This record gives sequence, structure tokens and C-alpha cells, in this order.
Amino acid sequence: MTQPADAGRQRMPLPLLRGQKALVTGAGSGIGRATAVELGRAGADVVVNYSSAREAAEEVVREIESFGVRAYAHRADVSREDQVVGMFARMAEEFGTVDVLVANAGLQQDAAVTEMTLDRWNRVLDVNLTGQFLCAREAVKEFDRRGVVPEVSRAAGKIICMSSVHQIIPWAGHANYAASKGGVLMMMRTLAQECAPRGIRVNAVAPGAIRTPINTEAWNTPQAEAGLLGLIPYGRVGDPADVAAAVTLLASDLMDYVVGTTIYVDGGMTLYPGFAAGG
Ligand code: NAD
Repeated sequence: MTQPADAGRQRMPLPLLRGQKALVTGAGSGIGRATAVELGRAGADVVVNYSSAREAAEEVVREIESFGVRAYAHRADVSREDQVVGMFARMAEEFGTVDVLVANAGLQQDAAVTEMTLDRWNRVLDVNLTGQFLCAREAVKEFDRRGVVPEVSRAAGKIICMSSVHQIIPWAGHANYAASKGGVLMMMRTLAQECAPRGIRVNAVAPGAIRTPINTEAWNTPQAEAGLLGLIPYGRVGDPADVAAAVTLLASDLMDYVVGTTIYVDGGMTLYPGFAAGG
């Protein structure tokens, strides 16, 4: 049964992140955009990181500002150490600190293994895995410096890594992407183990199939969408807002005891629906 995309969704009634400072990478489109907006709606001031499309990022800033919180766009390639360090330095100047990092920026450069150039392999690992590491490292330095401020949050800081169901589901023709997300899983769990004693919560959100520019060809024709729905027990393709809601909750103190976990936002894709009728 297909359900309307926004059926039953209610706006969060509580300013779950009031007074917190959030940085969302790759926030000019798709999941990052929806997440940046939702964090702003929840009361956070938000840095909207983007890599090339300035106007789109400025639109996100205006939408966030409409909630009465602060926001600005910052251009940085998350795979470049100097640019990541500069992004956090500016955030310290403008907002004073960082409470929430959503390491979301990512890309696909698909190819069969025999056609996979080293450049494609490296680019996807550089952005999807090394980019998350660089941002997480800078965030943890600031969380350690500042420590817990009880009136802001029970935690010294929160990191949410944007992973994918392909952190556990193999994906032929996408070895670089699946390897990058498998790496995100163990990086996230290791950082969670390492940093939890200092009051830092590191977790991941793993989307299934979400309607965004990264995967347009997977859902933009009726045939493609029908094929995709065969992989989704819940019967609909996901929306960026589905992922944004999970990230916002994970960042909030409602989830204060959740550490080192992945929340799958996938309509059941990781339930291996191919096995539903036997196997
Ligand atoms: P998207 O293409 O709309 O978003 C990715 C964003 O990352 C873009 O805004 C892009 O400009 C930015 N980006 C790319 N390289 C960058 C760099 N070097 N530095 C800074 N920003 C950079 O697609 P999306 O679906 O919203 O993807 C967001 C995240 O969600 C990615 O990590 C992706 O792997 C993950 N994800 C998406 C899906 C899905 O079905 N859409 C499923 C699982 C995981």
C-alpha cells in the first residue's frame, strides 16, 4: 500500500535544540538541506556548509532564519583539511562553539570494479569517509575544550554521521560507496567508544532510498520507482524530512542515552524483503 509522503507528519512541538549551535555539511540540497532546516526549527543556530552551489545554500539560510534563529552559509570541501579547520574556526568566531555536527556531505561515483579508476575510488573515500573524520576531529576538539554546559545539553557534544543502508548491504557497481559507508560505521562506533567517557555522543543515521539528487535515476520514472519499491517493505520511497526528523531527535537530550548506535531510516530495506516469501 502506498502512503502519501507526508501523511501524519506533525511538526515537532518542542524547541528540542534551543540555544545549541549546529553544523550540517552538504546542506545545500537533499537530506542535508532538510536536516539543517529541521535543526533550525528545533531552535538551533545553524551553519549551512556547501561545496559549490552558493545560491541554494543561501536559500536554506533564509528558511532557517525564518524560525528566528541564526544561520549562515559556509563554502568548504570537507575532504580538504585546511578548509574544514577554517570552517570550524569561523564557527567559533560567529557562534562561539559547536554543539551538534551532522557529517552529511557525500557523493557517488559509480562503476563496475573493472571500470573503477583510482581517482573515482579515492574521491568517494575522501569525501564520504575522510571528510567525516576531519569534521568529527575538529568537533571533538571543541567539545573537549568546552565540556558540558548543563543548561544547553546533558552531553558535551553530539555527532551524527550520515551513513547508508550500504554500511551493511553490499552494492554491486558501487564498491567505493559501500566501502566508504562501511568505514563510516566503524569510525562512528570507534569514536563513540573513545569519546563517550568525555560526555560526547557519536551516532549514525543510515537512510535507505530517499528522494534526493544523489539517486534521481532510481525513482524518477514509474518503472524505476516500482523496482525500488520491491526493496522497501513499508511501501514508499523516503523523503529527506524522514531522515531530518531522526537526526534532530538523535541530537536532542531525548536521546541522551543513545551512544554508538545506527538508526536505520529505510522503510524496512534492511529487513531483506527478498526473503519475505521464502528463502
Ligand atoms: P545530495 O547530493 O543532495 O547531497 C549531498 C550533498 O553533499 C550535496 O549538497 C553536495 O554538494 C555535498 N557535497 C558533495 N561533496 C562535498 C564536499 N567535498 N564538501 C562539502 N559538501 C559536499 O544527496 P543526499 O541524498 O541528500 O545525500 C546526503 C547524504 O545522505 C550522503 O552522505 C549520502 O551518502 C547519504 N545517503 C543518501 C541516501 C539517499 O537515498 N538519498 C541513502 C543513503 C545515504
